[in-house]
Amino acid sequence: MKITIHRGINQIGGCITEISNSETRILIDLGQNLPDGEGVVKDDFASREAIEKITQGIDAIFYTHYHGDHLGLFHYVPDNVQQYLGNVAKRVALCKHRQLSYIKGREELSAEEIAKLKKMGELSPGQSINIGDITITPYFVSHSAYDAYMFLIEAEGKKILHTGDFRGHGYLSKGLLPTIEKFILPQGKVDFLITEGTMLSRRGEKVMTENELQKEAGRIMTRYKNVFVMCSSTDMERLATFYAANKHLKRPLVCDRFQKSILEIFTESAGIRSQLFHFDKVYDFNPTNGKLVEWMSDKGFCMFVRATDKFKDYYQSLATRLDPNETVLIYSMWKEYVNYDGKHTVQRYLDFVSMFPNVEKLHTSGHASAECLANVCNLVNPTLGIIPIHSEQSDNYRKLNINDTLKGKIITTSQDIEGVEITTF
Ligand SMILES: [Zn+2]
Ligand SMILES: [Zn+2]
Repeated sequence: MKITIHRGINQIGGCITEISNSETRILIDLGQNLPDGEGVVKDDFASREAIEKITQGIDAIFYTHYHGDHLGLFHYVPDNVQQYLGNVAKRVALCKHRQLSYIKGREELSAEEIAKLKKMGELSPGQSINIGDITITPYFVSHSAYDAYMFLIEAEGKKILHTGDFRGHGYLSKGLLPTIEKFILPQGKVDFLITEGTMLSRRGEKVMTENELQKEAGRIMTRYKNVFVMCSSTDMERLATFYAANKHLKRPLVCDRFQKSILEIFTESAGIRSQLFHFDKVYDFNPTNGKLVEWMSDKGFCMFVRATDKFKDYYQSLATRLDPNETVLIYSMWKEYVNYDGKHTVQRYLDFVSMFPNVEKLHTSGHASAECLANVCNLVNPTLGIIPIHSEQSDNYRKLNINDTLKGKIITTSQDIEGVEITTF
């Protein structure tokens, strides 16, 4: 058996892992590199030729979740390679690509993306899929993308657990350790753990739970009447945080039609199981809707926004009616995107944020803290190796609070272990 980390050993995003034996070859994720501050993506794999080459002989591709750094290159994949994504994740990705299709000059590309997405196989938690002699079983994880999975991959009597991106401090994280304990480990020992390490290079960041964040959001929203929230439009748990905080204040929750469609998908899926994800009263904003604008200026409101010209116009159409002292933008994304001197600065975000009279930063990571990573490593206790990916400093894995035997099993370079050929690029 072979494990090939095409990308991810020393970078966040652009994840591509291959697992193969003499009969079958599968990929876990086919992600695009994250853009730099100017929004430019530098990615040698981002072409039809490169993807045709890397997917040659590949039997299937399994995506852990819908973030671009895991799913981003799917549209280049030839039709003879079956691709799989969570069933709700697929709906979200389709909704997003339909939205992108309205951008001028993108019609053809969007049509191709939508056609490829529609053909994708759908994953459900706990439901195994056999590809040749490899079995893949998805298990639900909490992440800043809903319907995200870790995969248990079985081949030639060996077991690999690939975590994808996950965290231990979300509303939906309670099942993380019990899932490993009650469903994965009873099937037999895991030989290799391939796991994310995003937070290892961001260890100074305080990890607040999504619950704590909701309380803090409530405090800010009580101080300000007019609240704009800039967060990921597909991060269900974060959207629920602000939705819940706003609900207590009985103010209208407004957003655009795209965001409303995404919230409807979440209501119809996760909302069936938990009231927290039941986004039932959401208003589609339109500056010409006098009645809604009147209601918003009277009662105050919470509006989900994105850093686009449309939302700039929306804000400006409302601004004259709003008291600047009572108006705030809650910035709920990674702080580095709006750090003036950082290497991850996104100018578009900075420009957007600077329009508002008051800005409050309130965020918690979609990724596992060092403590959570250690808990997962200790519990899984793999027999042969731990391969850290999705990390700028994979070597930092050795600083985790895990025992020396496990530390000795951390793999960041190419090597053969008990007949398993591991290649890292
Ligand atoms: Zn990622
Ligand atoms: Zn992600």
